[in-house]
Amino acid sequence: MSNYDVLFESVKIGPVTAKNRFYQVPHCCGMGHLRPQAHAAMRGMKAQGGWAVVSTEETEIHPSSDLSPAVEQRLWDERDIPALQLMTQSVHEYSALAAVELVHNGSHTSNLYSRTPALAPSSRSLDMIYPKQARAMDKADIREFRRWHKAAAIRAKQAGFDIIYVYAGHEMSLPHHFLLPEYNQRTDEYGGCLENRLRLTRELLQDTQEAIGDSCAVAFRFAVDQMLGVDGMQAHEEGRAVVEMLADIPDLWDVNVSGWANDSATSRFKPDSGYQTEYTKFVKKVTNKPVVGVGRITSPDMMVSLVKHGVLDFIGAARPSIADPFLPNKIREQRAEEIRECIGCNVCVSCDNLGVPIRCTQNPTMGEEWRRGWHPEKIAAAKTPQSVLVVGAGPAGLECALQLANRGYEVILSEASKHLGGRVVAESNLKGLALWRRVSDYRIYQLQQLDNVNIYLDSALNAQQVLELGIEQVFVATGAIWRKDGIGRTSRMPIEGLEQVAVYTPDDIMNGIVPGQGPVVIYDDDQGYLGGVLADHLSDLGHKVLFVTSASIVSPFTELTLEQKQVQCSLVAQGVDIYTNKSIVGVSQKSGHAGVELKCVYGGQDVWLACASLLLVTERESASPLYEQLQQLLKDDGTSMAMSLTLIGDALAPGLIADAVFSGHQGAQEFEADPDVVEQGLFKREMPSLNS
Ligand code: ADP
Ligand code: SF4
Repeated sequence: MSNYDVLFESVKIGPVTAKNRFYQVPHCCGMGHLRPQAHAAMRGMKAQGGWAVVSTEETEIHPSSDLSPAVEQRLWDERDIPALQLMTQSVHEYSALAAVELVHNGSHTSNLYSRTPALAPSSRSLDMIYPKQARAMDKADIREFRRWHKAAAIRAKQAGFDIIYVYAGHEMSLPHHFLLPEYNQRTDEYGGCLENRLRLTRELLQDTQEAIGDSCAVAFRFAVDQMLGVDGMQAHEEGRAVVEMLADIPDLWDVNVSGWANDSATSRFKPDSGYQTEYTKFVKKVTNKPVVGVGRITSPDMMVSLVKHGVLDFIGAARPSIADPFLPNKIREQRAEEIRECIGCNVCVSCDNLGVPIRCTQNPTMGEEWRRGWHPEKIAAAKTPQSVLVVGAGPAGLECALQLANRGYEVILSEASKHLGGRVVAESNLKGLALWRRVSDYRIYQLQQLDNVNIYLDSALNAQQVLELGIEQVFVATGAIWRKDGIGRTSRMPIEGLEQVAVYTPDDIMNGIVPGQGPVVIYDDDQGYLGGVLADHLSDLGHKVLFVTSASIVSPFTELTLEQKQVQCSLVAQGVDIYTNKSIVGVSQKSGHAGVELKCVYGGQDVWLACASLLLVTERESASPLYEQLQQLLKDDGTSMAMSLTLIGDALAPGLIADAVFSGHQGAQEFEADPDVVEQGLFKREMPSLNS
């Protein structure tokens, strides 16, 4: 009898039964209608990993809800059924239930592919970067919309789904738009009081029950709180009233907060797991139907507590199921310490915003299940058992060493510094990024469980030492270092006059060097996340920070991770002076003081800022001298060894931590693999069908 047994009780949802309490709520994945085989394999992997319910992403019900260029699912007509059948089959193979999130995105869509007018309760600007407005729906439009939704529910049942959603969340769906006064200014029976604004949702729930309720469950996904305080729907006011008014109509309540940035909050801004339950915990007190809730719940003990205290019936997860598709099985098998916990970085979310297949920092196999045949828990055994050397123990080296060891090779991991983790540990020391350390913690723990791994700290290797080791298979994962000359995205040449101020790089700050007295100019010509993090970090330590960026907003990359607004707000709140659209073109003296010369990227007025220190967040250079020396030795016939040299991670090409982990994993997967599989980096692709 285990404390976690309660998590493996079956739960009835209307006419269907979930085999346990682990519920993968709908989440986008950039696969959708364009990549149905990849999608089916990815969702099927979660079913294999023990999730009792596996849901789709948003599934458009009609061409007037066309999210292109984002890639979601479609059930526009019966031609879309076979693609989704692939998913329901792969989920059913492991006795899990398949759920589909039917969606009409209302004015949160631009219909660029279908060229159909967008629909909304009241005519408003589209919620997308496209200068167009939605049409206010008349009664005939509402009737049509209900008909589309009902027809899509019937198609979903034909595709094999067990749970069918009505969706009013994230401020991204038509039922939600009808519910919220800022979208709905109607004066008929669909506008005004809450009963009227809720009318469409009630009708949709009833229509769906009527259409498929005999054999499928009807789930209602609802954002109980907009997290806007008195300026929006609040859980203790209208949010609660909605649940009271619909209490037992749906078979399942899937509750969260909105907008999307609040629901998928990053660990930088919402560090604790289960952060949404303070908003959603009332729901179970109001309804007799099962409730699923989310909020990066990764601790098994917290899961048990949420169930036992009557807060949730199901442990909902989007990102924890991405980071570890086998999380439920690991808890069932008492292997909870092996869970690859989500770090809350939202790299997965950025993929959907970019329209590319999902990827994950913690789980490099995510999105590769079908096209590369990768599995999160299994990897091919070594062909020729032998020793391999991995040089550098950042995310790339750690992942590579772990997977090579899992394959059965004798692994030697050599690290120059006194600790493992490389940039992950360095970055996790900065404000808000502490949870990122899970990337190295997880891998170090796994490596420690294996007896075919030898780790050497404080062991910087040069080419001669590598040769002396006599190991013929070498993986070089020596990372990258931040430039100190100012070359970056807009400053293509070194910045002149740098010798006149104290110049730092992110590596200096992450290594604990503290800038001296006086204002610190941070020059972010990288435009990723780190410039904003460093500004937050240093200003929190009491430095006067002047943030100069060549972009028009702070940390534009973080728009993709849904954090940008919070990043900029937090710098403003801390009194950081922000200079946008400016490149630093030189350092010069004025009245005996050093300062930086800022040039407007749009030809506006130039600015001069006095400063004591300049922190350059511009570009990185691969730190691969070891690789180059070894290559040279091999080329010059300086060794008789038939050495195979593989460069991985940031030493190959600086990128995100997710890229480094992927590169390390790929290096291990492709070592001694069939050349046909590896050739030219090709992978399986889903080719367009010529059917119309
Ligand atoms: P990545 O993101 O590619 O894993 P990191 O910069 O995080 O790169 O990690 C690279 C690691 O390699 C660092 O921990 C660094 O100390 C280590 N390293 C760099 N050069 C050597 C070397 N010659 N021998 C051993 N370790 C090295
Ligand atoms: Fe979690 Fe980051 Fe993976 Fe997304 S990409 S699941 S946030 S670790």
